[in-house]
Amino acid sequence: MSESRDARPAETALIARVRAAARQEQFLEVVSAEEAQARFERHLKLKPLASETVSLADALGRVLAHDVVAEVDAPPFDRSNVDGFAVRAADTLGASDGNPKVFTLNAEVIACGHAPQLTVTGATATTIATGGVIPRGADAVIMIEHTELIDDDGEPRIELRRAAAPGQFVSYAGSDIARGETLLRRGARIGSREIGMVAACGRASIDVVRKPRVAVLSTGDELVEPGEALRPAGVYDSNGAVVAAAVAEAGGEPVAYGAFPDDAQQLEQAVRKALANCDMVVLSGGTSKGAGDLSHAIVSKLGKPGILVHGVALKPGKPLCLGVIGHKPIVVLPGFPTSAIFTFHAFVAPVIRAFAGLPPEAAQTVTARVPLRIASELGRKEFVLVSLIDSDQGPVAFPTGKGSGAVTSFSQADGFLEIEALASALDADSLAQVTLIGSAAQAPDLVIMGSHDVALDAVVGAIAERGHSTRTLAVGSLGGVAAANRGECDLAPVHLIDPQSGAYNKHLVAPGLTLVPGWRRMQGILFRPGDARFEGRSAAEALKAILADPDALMVNRNAGAGTRVLMDRLLDGKKPPGYANQPKSHNAVAAAIAQGRADWGLAIEPVARLYGLGFLPVAPEHYDFLLVESRRERPAVRAFLEALRDTAVRERIVALGMQPAD
Ligand code: AMP
Ligand code: MG
Repeated sequence: MSESRDARPAETALIARVRAAARQEQFLEVVSAEEAQARFERHLKLKPLASETVSLADALGRVLAHDVVAEVDAPPFDRSNVDGFAVRAADTLGASDGNPKVFTLNAEVIACGHAPQLTVTGATATTIATGGVIPRGADAVIMIEHTELIDDDGEPRIELRRAAAPGQFVSYAGSDIARGETLLRRGARIGSREIGMVAACGRASIDVVRKPRVAVLSTGDELVEPGEALRPAGVYDSNGAVVAAAVAEAGGEPVAYGAFPDDAQQLEQAVRKALANCDMVVLSGGTSKGAGDLSHAIVSKLGKPGILVHGVALKPGKPLCLGVIGHKPIVVLPGFPTSAIFTFHAFVAPVIRAFAGLPPEAAQTVTARVPLRIASELGRKEFVLVSLIDSDQGPVAFPTGKGSGAVTSFSQADGFLEIEALASALDADSLAQVTLIGSAAQAPDLVIMGSHDVALDAVVGAIAERGHSTRTLAVGSLGGVAAANRGECDLAPVHLIDPQSGAYNKHLVAPGLTLVPGWRRMQGILFRPGDARFEGRSAAEALKAILADPDALMVNRNAGAGTRVLMDRLLDGKKPPGYANQPKSHNAVAAAIAQGRADWGLAIEPVARLYGLGFLPVAPEHYDFLLVESRRERPAVRAFLEALRDTAVRERIVALGMQPAD
């Protein structure tokens, strides 16, 4: 009785939470990227922070705060460049094989660090080492190799058979660094060469711009620190790590505060502390207007001028929140990893660089053809991350296609292109300006586009050891067929069954393409171990039983996948519960079953093993390569074909659960 009375308030609270979560607050005002930037800059002093003095040993990578003016000459004195004899050039005039000149040696040897005592006068010479101080009276040095010692009982003399010009083999004082010269300009990033110059001037320390201290925080109930075990529904805090590293790359000093749950009190306390201790605060997550999103509400409480922008007409990055408290910037990045790092580079990195005394980063662009149509949302400027491939007709840009929730979209892209807010798409075969990210993409030796497989990494690894770089783009079997036909790749890994004949891949061969056998992968039914509907049965028996069980929930595959064709053949027109759930990879199928979001599906055997699932074999699938014939003789292509036949590589493929095809 008391049970039902207690349940009621809890239930009401739960329903209130559901209602709150379903109600979407709107962004107050969504502004353009340009307007967002302008508002932010209007409230900031974009100047280098004050300077600090550091020892040369700590100066590497820092930014020079003031010009460095040399206080001494280098070399500090006229110096000999060779081992030989200091002379007056006039005394050597006319020396030749037929008319050698004889010089009496002065009673002094000028080694390095020795201040000369004697003056060089007519027809005398003083022995001098490389680096020695040119003595008074001398104006040239003759090399020891060009002289002969007259070795008799008299005083030491040398014989010279060629004339010397004044200044020969002499480095004059200040010829390297002149006293009063500006050696380095403020804003220079200090490398080993700069450190060498400063040391040569006799300085042990140097004034550098203080690095902006940038607090990095993450928020989200789901976040787990890398290194800890992932709990159900947990996600690793990757933003914290990538933002901290990007802060350092932009010239700042990251101060990691870690990940916080979506708890208003805890988060506010941490943000206030960060703001007090640092020059800038970067928080990621909790900026959408969904359930548990608190970040903007916290920023709005911290002081003036407060939030300047919340909502930018950008994709990715719409929920970005920019604020300034006093003169300190505070930014809330969207939680989705690619959105977070994209908006960081667009809005945060330039501010850190300015505080750090670094010039704005110069963007490098290339023009590339985009072979596919890219749809885009009207009203938001869209940035599309792309991989670049060199084709016979110049660079080609492929959207990486993983979306803003992916960490790898940004990390593995070569660059991005922009689709204007007023365009609803970029048409296939358009030319686009691609802004390069990170180190400009080096054209790889081998391009593989198509379906990805774990054993492919074994082959690619083998050719990497032979010095060939490979770019693999996982665009699916059909994407690979299209790329191979367009000549955009060297090899396209495919595993497509011909629905008519039931044979694999042969129907994909077209003029200019040949089929190279790869390996077989056993496809089968995946289930959780212990599930009596599957355990101990054959695939056919299990299938019959589950098709009769309305509680058995399947997970399907996307149209176009080889596994999907096989599934449709197995189901023979039936559409059991879960049929419409169509993830795009073997791993997603296995994860859904392992986590209980589905009971069965089709995938390859190694993946079943990887997720600790049961497996009932159905049929081997052929994973082969379409080879673009015109590229067969390229060294990296030849190396790949050789690696496919290599015993060690084949052993690796077998160890991964595949069967080489021939
Ligand atoms: P939010 O902006 O908090 O609504 O988060 C949007 C999405 O980004 C969710 O899927 C989060 O799990 C993910 N996310 C938020 N913060 C992080 C983080 N620090 N690292 C990785 N993913 C995150
Ligand atoms: Mg969140």
